[in-house]
Amino acid sequence: MSKRQRDLFQPDPDPWDMDDAEQRLIATVVFPEPPHGQFDYQVPAALATSIAAGKRVRVPLGRGNRRLIAWCVDVRYKSVATRQLKEVSAVLDDRPLLAPSMLRLTEWMAGYYLCPWGAALEAVVPAGVRTAAGTRATAYLSVPTRVAARLTQLSLPEKQMHALRLLAAAPEPLTARQLASAARCTQAPIKQLQAKGLIQVEMRRVATGQIVETIEDPDSQRPLNSDQQQALDAILHVLNAGHQETLLLYGVTGSGKTEVYIRAIEELIQFGRQAIVLVPEISLTPQTRQRFRSRFERVAVLHSHLSDAERHWHWQRIARGEIQVVVGARSAVFAPTPQLGMIVLDEEHDTSFKQDQAPRYHARDVALQRARAEGVPLVLGSATPSLESWYRAQQGDFRLLRLPARVLDRSLPDVTTIDLRLEYQGRHHRGAISRPLHQAVDLALRDGGQVILLLNRRGFSTSIQCPSCGHVIRCRDCDIALTHHRADNRAVCHYCDYSIATPDVCPECRFTGIRFAGLGTQRLEQELKQRFPGVTALRMDSDTMQRPGSHEQALAAFRAGDVRILFGTQMIAKGLDFPNVTLVGVINADTALHFPDFRAAERTFQLVTQVAGRTGRGDREGRVMVQTFSPEHPALQAAVRHDYETFAGQELAIRQQFQYPPTAVMMRIIIRGPVEADTEAFADDVADRLESARDAMGAELRIIGPAPAPIAKLQTKYRFHALLQGHDRDAMHAILSNVTAELKSSADVQWIIDVDPVNLL
Ligand code: ADP
Ligand code: ZN
Repeated sequence: MSKRQRDLFQPDPDPWDMDDAEQRLIATVVFPEPPHGQFDYQVPAALATSIAAGKRVRVPLGRGNRRLIAWCVDVRYKSVATRQLKEVSAVLDDRPLLAPSMLRLTEWMAGYYLCPWGAALEAVVPAGVRTAAGTRATAYLSVPTRVAARLTQLSLPEKQMHALRLLAAAPEPLTARQLASAARCTQAPIKQLQAKGLIQVEMRRVATGQIVETIEDPDSQRPLNSDQQQALDAILHVLNAGHQETLLLYGVTGSGKTEVYIRAIEELIQFGRQAIVLVPEISLTPQTRQRFRSRFERVAVLHSHLSDAERHWHWQRIARGEIQVVVGARSAVFAPTPQLGMIVLDEEHDTSFKQDQAPRYHARDVALQRARAEGVPLVLGSATPSLESWYRAQQGDFRLLRLPARVLDRSLPDVTTIDLRLEYQGRHHRGAISRPLHQAVDLALRDGGQVILLLNRRGFSTSIQCPSCGHVIRCRDCDIALTHHRADNRAVCHYCDYSIATPDVCPECRFTGIRFAGLGTQRLEQELKQRFPGVTALRMDSDTMQRPGSHEQALAAFRAGDVRILFGTQMIAKGLDFPNVTLVGVINADTALHFPDFRAAERTFQLVTQVAGRTGRGDREGRVMVQTFSPEHPALQAAVRHDYETFAGQELAIRQQFQYPPTAVMMRIIIRGPVEADTEAFADDVADRLESARDAMGAELRIIGPAPAPIAKLQTKYRFHALLQGHDRDAMHAILSNVTAELKSSADVQWIIDVDPVNLL
């Protein structure tokens, strides 16, 4: 029985009993696997000094007293009456794997995301740290901070000095052999440095050390422009005031946001504090890493290709305070910095900040929680802020900082739409590239420029659109584009299950040739070959970019100019900085626009703006052409005018009208199983229970569905979902956790809760 349940069901100890009660040392633990909940154990005297919250322990469980590993989350003296508790068998870690503040953060995650505390702990502490990966093995050399700081004052024999300098400049420790070969010396000078205490030795298993030249970054000498300076001053003001505040840095693409973060971090590391910079995984390019490494001496880059041993090693260095800046994807929000000074989330609108497996946390919300707990500023940066953050800035929760112009008076690219309805009428137009776009590509190539073409594939989404007037069939209740189901020729809403027979004639203009979207990158590849023979074009999507490093290679080829046209999915829209790109084309903006998701318009605005931001970054001006059947759509109109604020205002009004986030709270429950009928029946039952629980509580909230999820079948499992929408987050939490606690999990049908879902497929 969990602690909370026990508190509920056991009366307070009888006062007479209390007299015999002794104060005993009690450890409260949670398990990474079921059973979930908190469990109390007595701590035997022998373990009293070694046990601590944040360490793992071994404890007996159940009638058979299976010995299981658990996380100790609390240790304190408690009065234990007559109740007999089992004893902790062993303490597994020498030091706590989490600081108390991080332990509380995981507790908050468990409550907020409705996941077991143990599961949150497992997500926060990387596997490599839990298994202490790489603790036995090769010796790795590095230069201690105190030595690195007075490198120039040392007088040493030439060979030793050379080796020491190289090692100090290396971003990661090296083996003695690596260092000897880089310094072209024998082991002797290295041994001598070690004997003098100028080199420290650590043991780890996997080699990653390499000498990277430190390139002087020209930005460090450049003065900030006045907008940048104002933003920096605002951040420094919060930093020096020593309290928590969230600043939303809304700056157009190429406005110098990153430079602002870097200057703020330069300030705070002088006080011995550390910064965490979170970026989308796809932005962790060598370019980004190099930028931070050229400005800071001790940077840890946490990316998804690290081995367990490498991760463990970074974790230890961060925890010891040896790292100034942690740059990483989503999970770097948990980096164990001892004296955190600031958290930055760059491209804060990016969907990769939400984890799509349990615990389904959003790094932005976790970062905010952590920043509050540690009393430090959180800086969110974007050219297209998420409506979540924008809304909070409007409400006064976040402070808005603006960088309205590109650096060095560079202009934003000229964005135009190409009306595909005209292209399709009369002119027997075939293929993906319209005549105006073809001509523009031709021109750009002849001028020696490079071209990026974006095709937002996700082809299974078969929205129903009239090619003559651009009208899209939508749900009357949800404002979501209906999806065509070929099998029974029906148009279905994947939120509420509303459906109609798919019309043959456009209800708007009576045109008889309604069509379903769908065009893949492969077909585009063929078309490019035919239209532009002899021009090197490179496809970049998740199919062609599977090998590790292939992404970097492709970008390097494009940078070198070997590739003239880069085309692919949204992978190419993000964060790339190529000065020679003079044309960006969006093949079909409608695939994103009429996606069955209430955020479709927001995503389209972001996509067009971000991909447009890839051009005009050098001395040459850039232009952007967006092909669409709906040029009058407000999201596209706003993107053409670079007018985020108007778009955000209009879109927030729609969200309010249909009770969508961020003006309301959404939670999603997904039910999946191998047999369609059983899964659907289970989903119906869940929805009924949710409704009864809601009515019993008198809570005001909409329960929508169940409906087949937009991806109705995934890896042999049928998927249904139901959505909860309302304003009372606590009531929604209570209803979901009460209802799911009563569900009998069968081996077949499983359910998943997603709080604040980002992906509704
Ligand atoms: P963002 O993060 O807003 O896209 P960056 O910080 O990457 O912008 O800056 C865009 C480009 O402008 C980079 O190449 C950067 O080196 C350069 N840059 C940044 N600030 C300045 C400045 N004040 N003066 C000149 N160039 C700058
Ligand atoms: Zn609907």
